[in-house]
Amino acid sequence: MSDRAQNIARGVLGPNLVEGESLLEAKLRPQSFSEFVGQTKVKENLGLYIRAARERGEVLDHILLSGMAGLGKTTLAHIVATEMGRELRATSGPVLERARDLAGILTSLQEGDVLFIDEIHRLSRTVEEYLYSAMEDFCIDIVLDQGAAAQSIKINLHPFTLVGATTRQGLLSSPFLARFGVLEKLDPYPAEDLKEIILRSARILGVGARDDAASLLATRSRGIPRVANRFLRRVRDVAQIQSENLIDEDTARKGLEMLGVDEEGLDELDRTILGCLVHHGGRPVGLKTVAVAVGEDQVTIEEVCEPYLIRQGYLSRTPRGRIPLERAYRHLGRPVPQLPPSPLFS
Ligand code: ADP
Repeated sequence: MSDRAQNIARGVLGPNLVEGESLLEAKLRPQSFSEFVGQTKVKENLGLYIRAARERGEVLDHILLSGMAGLGKTTLAHIVATEMGRELRATSGPVLERARDLAGILTSLQEGDVLFIDEIHRLSRTVEEYLYSAMEDFCIDIVLDQGAAAQSIKINLHPFTLVGATTRQGLLSSPFLARFGVLEKLDPYPAEDLKEIILRSARILGVGARDDAASLLATRSRGIPRVANRFLRRVRDVAQIQSENLIDEDTARKGLEMLGVDEEGLDELDRTILGCLVHHGGRPVGLKTVAVAVGEDQVTIEEVCEPYLIRQGYLSRTPRGRIPLERAYRHLGRPVPQLPPSPLFS
């Protein structure tokens, strides 16, 4: 896996993030439902299931959280464990290469612990199937020895809660999906919620932020809290050097400009992708070709850049490839050719 893909695997988003900033991100992570801004329905649902399970003295059902990177899936998994008063063990789909890796973790769980698997859609089929009996009956088969002497024994596990996170729920098989009792989807945040997140993070970071500056950063953050926090951290640097530790609208604009984020919230990579599509004259372009042309890996383009570009009406995914829409031409200041009236697929 490339560095970029590993960053995505860890949930680190965007082309401007500096390695090692994850510590700061942890500092900004809400610890309880009351600190977790927005996503009211999801919070209400999870809160209710947790209360009910606690009242019955039972282990919470398995939960699948889906939604784009940076929307708060990992944060929610931590909150679920805290609210249940249990430990959280975190791992991710690409890390669990063999059933043996998973068995080691499963056997170390105590009753009611939360096992968090990020990027659960990237589990290998073998590991996924190995999870089935663990999820359903809390037992696994372990193979002892090898070759002719090999024998398999059944081991009972302490009942646990699996919290899976995925950016691609559609890639999960139906038997796997069916084993989750709770499916919750996180949507991009409206600007008011992002503004609240920015003001909260500014307080934690000890930097002043004016209301209009927070609003500006919120509208450029693509609906994603992690992006909002990343912008805030960069703008904080500008504020520290240039405006006595106060983020006002001017500082926010300056910071966004330095990050290469334009008026519509697109960054350098987004514009390069659109430029590549426009360059092909509106003919569908395959993901591989786009990746090679812009020098990025396919996962970043597909899971980080495209969801926003599609939502905002810059491009469309068709079965034959990506096509730029009118807004892309306008944004790049290029003449708009005769385009199909509306995207058939996105
Ligand atoms: P994901 O697991 O979906 O990629 P994370 O849970 O790692 O996302 O969230 C990324 C960061 O965004 C967190 O560190 C946290 O600071 C912030 N964040 C996410 N959701 C919220 C929220 N609802 N309220 C406040 N901050 C949030």
